Amino acid sequence: MNPHNFSIEFFPPKTEEGTEKLRVTRAKLAELNPKYFSVTFGAGGTTQQGTLDTVVEIRKEGFDAAPHLSCVGGTRDSIRQILQTYKDHNIHRLVALRGDLPSGYGMGGEFRYANELVEFIRSETGDWFQIEVAAYPEMHPQAKSPQDDLQNFVRKIQAGANAAITQYFYNADAYFQFVENAQKAGVNVPIVAGIMPITNSSQLMRFSEMCGAEIPRWVRLKLASYGDDSASIKAFGLDVVTQMCERLLAGGAPGLHFYSLNQAAATTAIWNRLV
Ligand code: FAD
Repeated sequence: MNPHNFSIEFFPPKTEEGTEKLRVTRAKLAELNPKYFSVTFGAGGTTQQGTLDTVVEIRKEGFDAAPHLSCVGGTRDSIRQILQTYKDHNIHRLVALRGDLPSGYGMGGEFRYANELVEFIRSETGDWFQIEVAAYPEMHPQAKSPQDDLQNFVRKIQAGANAAITQYFYNADAYFQFVENAQKAGVNVPIVAGIMPITNSSQLMRFSEMCGAEIPRWVRLKLASYGDDSASIKAFGLDVVTQMCERLLAGGAPGLHFYSLNQAAATTAIWNRLV
């Protein structure tokens, strides 16, 4: 089973040591032969150079790479310049997002939502970029309702996105429902499932709180019962996430996008069980 759309996400390292570690991680993950790697972009442009440097390095290693681009806090001019830089490096893929500024910063900038960014990218660069956008099977935490969030998702596709990657989730049914509803609303682009391996329970709880991903009660209870026993957490996480990936692929998910957190082991272990 080798899904057509198998991709892996990194964040740009902040130190030389982190950069070196990511090279080692990447060499391991390259053996899985993903379709592309993606590299996140700090809202407000905080990682602009790091994102570009990482993408350029990955491309030199012979892999396709997609920088993320978040528009919050940006101006038309600043985004135009970033797009030109990506074009100058012959980068043809982008993950286009609104982003979240830290609380206290307000929204600022000339873009309010990701659909405006997608529209701008298309108006500035035509079909140069393959554009991926974010999707939320369990609803974006700031949305008014799931229906409203779905309409906002549809808006991004209508603005010219080619595909979507979901926020991570551990309820496969939420994904299938979302895809069905999106298709009923006229969306016919691939909606790739975002997968977060489970390796560390406190980190997972913290992330999930922020991004609105639900950890099912039984998974939470099991994780809590392992306390500091990291080996048991990883073994349990591997079983739960692999089984969900199997279900997703069997149910028609067009691909998987792994949030690797710059670690190779968990993604590799899941992948090796799937193939
Ligand atoms: P939007 O699609 O703009 O949606 C944001 C909210 O506004 C939603 O509640 C939506 O319902 C509502 N909304 C959307 N459009 C409209 C409209 N026209 N009118 C009224 N309401 C509207 N963040 C980063 O900073 N950097 C990254 O690299 C990054 N990578 C990510 C990758 C993936 C695959 C995912 C799923 C998320 C990523 N994020 C990243 C997080 C993302 O930026 C946040 O989830 C952010 O809060 C929303 O971004 P969005 O692009 O989904 O926003």
